[in-house]
Amino acid sequence: MRIGVLAIQGDVREHLQHLVQVGADAVSVRTLADLAYVEGLIIPGGESTTIGMLMQEEGLIGAILQRVTNEGFPVYGTCAGLILLAKDVIGKSPARLGLMDIVADRNAYGRQVASFEADLDIVGVEGGPFHAVFIRAPQIIAVGTNVIPLAYYRDQVVMARQGSLLVSSFHPEMTKDTRIHHYFVDLVARRVMTS
Ligand code: GLN
Repeated sequence: MRIGVLAIQGDVREHLQHLVQVGADAVSVRTLADLAYVEGLIIPGGESTTIGMLMQEEGLIGAILQRVTNEGFPVYGTCAGLILLAKDVIGKSPARLGLMDIVADRNAYGRQVASFEADLDIVGVEGGPFHAVFIRAPQIIAVGTNVIPLAYYRDQVVMARQGSLLVSSFHPEMTKDTRIHHYFVDLVARRVMTS
C-alpha cells in the first residue's frame, strides 16, 4: 500500500515514519507525478493558507478533487489539513479542497490557548485513549449528516470521517502512538466512496 504525505510544510518526516511503522510504503508528495503513484494522502498541519496556495500552484488541488470524486481517493487532513478539506471555513482560507461536509473555525482553539493535550476515546481505535496534541488547532463547529464523528473534546467533534475522507484537529504524529495512522491505512485498504 503506497501512501503519500504532502511535503509542503509540517511534520512530514514524522508522518512518513508512522506510516512505515504500520506497514505502508510511505512517500513524500510534492508534484502531480508524485500524487499519481499513491493510493492515499495525508495532509499535515502547518499554515493552511500557505499550504493551500502552494498546492494550487502545483495543480494539486484540482488533481486531488478529481481523484476523490472519481475513485474515492482517501485523504487524511490533520489540523491545517482539516481546514483544507472543510467545505466551509470561518477565517480567511483562499485555496482549499472544500470536500468534507464540515464547518471549521480556523484558529478557534488557538485563540483560547496556543496548544494543549488531551486523552481522547476514538471510535474504531482500540486499546484505550489516544494522547492528542493540539497546536493552534481549528475547531469543527458543524458537521453534515453524512459525516461520522469519531472523537470529541469537551463535547466538540475533533476527529471525523466522511467516506474515505478523514480529519482530526490534533496532530497524531507527535507521539509514538501509530494507531491513527493504522486506522487511515485500513481506510485506504477498504476505500469507501465519499458521498
Ligand atoms: N490554525 C492553523 C491554520 O489556520 C493550523 C494550525 C496547525 O496546523 N497546527 O492554518
